[in-house]
Amino acid sequence: MKKDYLFTPGPTPVPERIMLAMAQPIMHHRKPAFSAILKECFAELKWLYRTANDVLIFASSGTGALEGAVTNFLSPGDRVITVNAGKFGERWTQICNAFGMKVEEIKVEEGKSVSVEAVGEYIKRHKDARAFYIQASETSTGVAHPIKSIAALIKKERPDILVVVDAVTAMGVMDIPTDEWGLDIVVAGSQKALMLPPGLSFASVSEKAWRMNKESKTHRFYFDWAKERKNMAKDTTAFTPAVSLIVGLREALKMLKEEGLDNVFRRHGLLARATREAMKALNLSLFAADAPSNSVTSVSYPNASALIKALKSEFGVTIADGQGELKGKIFRIANLGYYTPIDTIAGVAAIEMGLKKLEHKFEIGAGLAVAQRIIMEEDPDKWSPPQDNYCAL
Ligand SMILES: *Cc1c(COP(=O)(O)O)cnc(C)c1O
Repeated sequence: MKKDYLFTPGPTPVPERIMLAMAQPIMHHRKPAFSAILKECFAELKWLYRTANDVLIFASSGTGALEGAVTNFLSPGDRVITVNAGKFGERWTQICNAFGMKVEEIKVEEGKSVSVEAVGEYIKRHKDARAFYIQASETSTGVAHPIKSIAALIKKERPDILVVVDAVTAMGVMDIPTDEWGLDIVVAGSQKALMLPPGLSFASVSEKAWRMNKESKTHRFYFDWAKERKNMAKDTTAFTPAVSLIVGLREALKMLKEEGLDNVFRRHGLLARATREAMKALNLSLFAADAPSNSVTSVSYPNASALIKALKSEFGVTIADGQGELKGKIFRIANLGYYTPIDTIAGVAAIEMGLKKLEHKFEIGAGLAVAQRIIMEEDPDKWSPPQDNYCAL
């Protein structure tokens, strides 16, 4: 018998409850029954984002909303600052370049987070900068950037700059209080901590951003956020939405709400801590040791590609390779989404067996023992609140 276990930082496993919700007959998207579902999603996304701003929904992967976060607010020739600490930071730079913005890129060594001081220097040096683009969690390296401090600094020094955060692997993992931190645009995606298949992206938009939207002259059509906002006010979307995914989204938001946001953050913190400490106990070093993200644990290992192959073929376990230059040098284990401590234990066990085959030196069970101890020290009510796994259809 073969069973697949997905431990990649997107896509992530989809709960049975959500799959069942999505298996219902397709509804027509302009009828009241579907509008009611959309309305609930719009409201609950605000709850998840902790914002009073509109949170728009798009039928695209996360990158669609990243692109819209550039084209709807700037004009060609505008100066922007991007933080490039890996593949996703690089994507901000690529999108801004594609639409003719003048990009000042803060290049950060891979495996490190950007320093608040570096951001301070750039906003001081580039007096005409109109927007700042960053990741909350840089999935390619497993780093978390200090968003709270950076947003506070920009708000104090340059309140005119648009602060845009790619929180695709942070929303639903760590606390990103959009309004409290004054974040203008926050992007999320369905196939990460929202426990859905790929195909939806989300973006919250502040009033400051909407004012900039009025002046923006960049060409756009499908991702016209002002048009989307008008439709959202009528509980509909500009174009045919991804109907089944929206039905699944409602179920996902229900599950997160039943668990409670604090418990969601605590569970991710626990899984990430257990994974990190387990890897260290296997004589491996963490690639993002200074500022690790709770979304994904990146581990330095020169034989990463062989390990990934062995885990897949022998145990049906899929973990992620490094991206770009990091391919074959690190492996990444997801902690975000539909995972409990028992999943993490299974992942660690598989990695141990794979490493043994590749003759890496460590004591079998060493990582498991550490992970188990960390999990047992945490109050189970905190990671497993009373909640069941059944879908009310
Ligand atoms: C997954 C991800 C995205 C979106 O990528 P898509 O493939 O377009 O969904 C954006 N940013 C980060 C940090 C991600 O992890």
